[in-house]
Amino acid sequence: MIDLCFLGTCGMMPMPGRWLSCVLLRCNAQLTLFDCGEGTQIPWKALGWGFRQLGAICLTHMHADHVAGLPGVLFMVAHAGRTEPLHIYGPVGTAYVVEGLRRIAADLPFPVHIYEMRGGEQFMLPGNLYGSCAAAAHGIPCLAYRAELKRNAEFQVEKARALGLPVEYWSRLQHGETIEYNGQTFVPAQVLGEARRGISLAFITDTRPTPTLSAFAYDVDLLICESMYDDPADLPLAREHAHMYAEEAAGLAKAAEAHRLILTHFSPKIADPSRAERAARRIFANTSAARDGLIVTLNFS
Ligand SMILES: [Zn+2]
Ligand SMILES: [Zn+2]
Repeated sequence: MIDLCFLGTCGMMPMPGRWLSCVLLRCNAQLTLFDCGEGTQIPWKALGWGFRQLGAICLTHMHADHVAGLPGVLFMVAHAGRTEPLHIYGPVGTAYVVEGLRRIAADLPFPVHIYEMRGGEQFMLPGNLYGSCAAAAHGIPCLAYRAELKRNAEFQVEKARALGLPVEYWSRLQHGETIEYNGQTFVPAQVLGEARRGISLAFITDTRPTPTLSAFAYDVDLLICESMYDDPADLPLAREHAHMYAEEAAGLAKAAEAHRLILTHFSPKIADPSRAERAARRIFANTSAARDGLIVTLNFS
């Protein structure tokens, strides 16, 4: 199971009642933050999931609305007593910006490791999530992220019994170990059923839609995607600033064959995101517009 919370849904600048578009993800009691705009720690504190378990921050790019909240969040994590390392992922240029922001959050009780990526990398995220990234198209280095929770194949008790294997060996086989018993070797395939679908989500913001991104988000259970604008008439603006309007986000979800789309990163001029939601639904029916504080739980199917 994965829980996620939209700490904010605004692009460009925080507004009264709407924070910047960050998503906090919780899996196996561990936390990963996607983007970290100014003031992120405030809605996070209201959420009550705690700060100590934050093990990774995935930054899409180095615009202020996605990174300026870092000193405040690092301070909160320190204040919560974390001593284990914190991993920060981002595009080329991340180290320069994060090290600059660290000048006002210098004394931390935990090490901070920074990883600069170009797209195509794979890495582990807290809570046993498999992370990956792809290059986005925003005019500066920008990454889209994907996180997947794999699911073990079903353990078939009757097969284990038929092999005469004592119960104490079952769990090791279920978790992929080869074991020796009674002078014989047993491999997981002897007691496991078909592979089962895990849970996957993609976080795509501050980019034009591209074939690379729809391939990257293929078949995700949830696509979280920017909708900076809500009107096709804004296409010239979207092109100029390398963003999307709602129908483009929906087109990306459709091309990716995603199962569900949630829109976020709304321009400050969008007072009511329900118009973006209605527009996107004409292209991709299972769309909703995020509101600040929205919590979504993804379960194994
Ligand atoms: Zn932005
Ligand atoms: Zn940006």
